[in-house]
Amino acid sequence: MKYYSTNNPNHKVDLKEAVIKGLAPDQGLYMPEKIPVLAEEFYATLHTLTFKEIGYKVIGALFSEDLSDEQIKTLVDHTLDFDAPLVAVEKDVFALELFHGPTLAFKDFGARFCSKLMSMLQDKHGIKVLVATSGDTGSAVANGFLDVEGVEVVILYPSGKVSELQEKQFTTLGKNIKAIEINGVFDDCQKLVKEAFLDPELNSKLLLTSANSINIARWIPQCLYYFYAYSRLPKENKKLVFSVPSGNFGNLAAGILAERMGLPIDMFIAATNVNKVVPDFLNGSAFLPKPSKQTISNSMDVGNPSNFFRLLALFGGDEDKLKEKVKGCYYSDESTKEAMVEVKQETGYTMDPHGAVAYLGLKAFMKEYPSAYQGIFLETAHPGKFRNTVEEALGEKLILPERLAAFMQGEKQVDTMENDYLQFREYLLK
Ligand SMILES: *Cc1c(COP(=O)(O)O)cnc(C)c1O
Repeated sequence: MKYYSTNNPNHKVDLKEAVIKGLAPDQGLYMPEKIPVLAEEFYATLHTLTFKEIGYKVIGALFSEDLSDEQIKTLVDHTLDFDAPLVAVEKDVFALELFHGPTLAFKDFGARFCSKLMSMLQDKHGIKVLVATSGDTGSAVANGFLDVEGVEVVILYPSGKVSELQEKQFTTLGKNIKAIEINGVFDDCQKLVKEAFLDPELNSKLLLTSANSINIARWIPQCLYYFYAYSRLPKENKKLVFSVPSGNFGNLAAGILAERMGLPIDMFIAATNVNKVVPDFLNGSAFLPKPSKQTISNSMDVGNPSNFFRLLALFGGDEDKLKEKVKGCYYSDESTKEAMVEVKQETGYTMDPHGAVAYLGLKAFMKEYPSAYQGIFLETAHPGKFRNTVEEALGEKLILPERLAAFMQGEKQVDTMENDYLQFREYLLK
């Protein structure tokens, strides 16, 4: 399979280059040149398969030209090492819980797949993955790459500007995961990483790569849990709608990829907080990136969503088709908290702020078509990751899952550094 750049369909590369480069040289996003449609018989038997068995089929359909059956099995087994339960919250309304992985957020799926695939594709000298993080990406990537052979991860983060829990999740692992605490802000960290990628001499000595969310190896595996959720849905003669809490729109784009592969999803809801560039576009405005605003669903505080052109590419660039299949909506922090309280009181279910945004979008849509749909909203993170917000809204203490509590016991191991490229460069070379 070849992968083309969304900026130039004639620029095509193989799997290895798409994964190691991440972004095309023309700054476009890589897309598979063919989207395989799975056989009817696969869909007819989907409910009898395990999550991993679904994974072998779907990943096989996409990657079998480039990877052996054994490699596909290894990749899927490593990625789907935890469940994604579908929980009935109300009549016809389900939460797809994507937070049962090591860092309790859906990014674990992409990070785990990406790490394994990179280690399969690397040369014998090994890869260094550079990541600048303001919190969540660092923890998912660090945990996804832990103990992966031939890959070393270097995480840069701004001193004092990530939460203690986030910091623990990527500074206590040791082994092939190195963390550098930079005396600066997030933008400084990102700039250091960019300078390293643009340094020809450094790149002639080291194989540097990034594991950010536009990489196909993080993006594609996210389609798997849409198939799985569908397979676990109680059978009723109703249409299916997914509501996806969105920031960079990789997760939503992966759902659409599943639909393009034949999964019968009637509609998608693109739900955001007040960072509503994409809902505005879907409701008729031009696509106009803006500086991001801070909200309580902070992992979706994105003003220039990097997967927007992937959404368009999935519809062959046809804006009208995209707008037919995806409805946009956005919610304030106030409404988000109210939804968390209401659902807790009425059903006993605890939503995190991101899931709550998706819940609101789903309910608004389903109200327009009474009894016509079964709806699934994606719960992208465990409520305990946003403990203060959730406890304040609900007026009660959360019980932290053991995995989160365990991170708090770990010993922080970091190098500290000034915001200085030459120092960073020397660190990488030593
Ligand atoms: C990253 C993230 C999102 C946004 O996902 P995208 O794929 O960037 O749209 C939503 N919720 C949580 C908890 C996240 O960490």
